[in-house]
Amino acid sequence: MAANTNELNDMTKKLYMSMGIDEKVYDFCNEIWNGLEERFDKIRKVSEFNQAKVLKAMQDNKVSEACLLGTTGYGYNDIGRDKLEAVYASIFHTEDALVRPQITCGTHALALALMSNLRPGDELLAPAGKPYDTLEEVIGIRPSKGSLAEYGVTYRQVDLFEDGSFDYESIKKAINDKTKLVAIQRSKGYQTRPTFSVEKIGELISFVKGIKSDVIVMVDNCYGEFVETIEPSDVGADMVVGSLIKNPGGGLAPIGGYIAGKKECVENAAYRLTSPGLGKEVGASLGILPQFYQGLFLSPNVTASALMGAIFAANIYEKLGFSVLPNGIEERYDIIQAITFNDPKLLTSFCEGIQYAAPVDSYVTPEPWDMPGYDSQVIMAAGAFVSGSSIELSADGPLREPYSVFFQGGLTWQHAKFGIMKTLAVMYEKGLVTLTN
Ligand SMILES: *Cc1c(COP(=O)(O)O)cnc(C)c1O
Repeated sequence: MAANTNELNDMTKKLYMSMGIDEKVYDFCNEIWNGLEERFDKIRKVSEFNQAKVLKAMQDNKVSEACLLGTTGYGYNDIGRDKLEAVYASIFHTEDALVRPQITCGTHALALALMSNLRPGDELLAPAGKPYDTLEEVIGIRPSKGSLAEYGVTYRQVDLFEDGSFDYESIKKAINDKTKLVAIQRSKGYQTRPTFSVEKIGELISFVKGIKSDVIVMVDNCYGEFVETIEPSDVGADMVVGSLIKNPGGGLAPIGGYIAGKKECVENAAYRLTSPGLGKEVGASLGILPQFYQGLFLSPNVTASALMGAIFAANIYEKLGFSVLPNGIEERYDIIQAITFNDPKLLTSFCEGIQYAAPVDSYVTPEPWDMPGYDSQVIMAAGAFVSGSSIELSADGPLREPYSVFFQGGLTWQHAKFGIMKTLAVMYEKGLVTLTN
């Protein structure tokens, strides 16, 4: 006979306790979980919309069984690859898209978008503060071989106001004859500023284009895909760029990046990725297309699971008195949750908990290391099926003040929930936190 709800709860609790979750931790967390149903319902509604959007794009473009086959060698006439790019263009409402396993990661996709659309003498403007850490070397903010700076592309940056709003007056002053491309990052990355809503990004784009209409606006869309019902390309971005081992890969894509946007921008990127003259025509997809298609199909639901995990974490750690960004009740625009511990022990304990909750490598303890592209040591927890995938339950944080952890992902909400409980269980076991219900 099937168990009733109470029996099921007891069974699950017992199983969790056998997996190292103290009863007090479970009770504390579960009460918070139960209070979040209304939030979760809204997230499910957004994911229902986005699931239909993805499905419609696949149907409208007549994705067929033959699209899943893939090619080898040069990859001429790879209909599955070409159709996938058409599907991305439909979803993002753009003229074209480049979606390839030859784009190795998000940084590569962003570097590609920038380097292919900027020419010597052009200027790049970041109107909303410092871009993601790894882009510092792409741009040449930190001197690096092959940077845009080495090619004679200059860079200008306008910082956000203290409250995270745009400094429109300084942005206006920063735009000049040389300004060719404007780069906006949707997600907060490793900063403690709010993530921008698509609507807010749209306001900034309108402002910039009102001053210089032919400027190219690129949005770093990492971690933002399918969190809202619209994307930055719906509010005037000429290019949206992201990684397939984050949201749009749905946990299945084992590599890859995308650039969706204006035909000319995508064309420039394709000529840079392969070769002038070859562009999108070459680039075998090998056997990867089923994962790209299926991952994209699952992405709205996976993104929703990650969002539920993030909200759960925010509410738990907020209740324990830590500063959390976003806070427990505010609207979400990406899947990242930042928690500020002001204490390296808590930061490392959090990452240990995520690691111990993983399906892969759960028995190892994460250690801080000097990660390429970052200027301080970073601790990372990820027992992922795809190495380094951060749509899977993962946490990382630079070992520097104020010892904030950036937590994201969860292929299923069930796993995200367990992982967060595990982070608290590690801290509780070490006596680093006290729980009062
Ligand atoms: C992850 C991320 C990147 C870089 O992507 P990688 O795949 O790690 O190279 C760039 N920008 C933002 C906002 C990101 O979150």
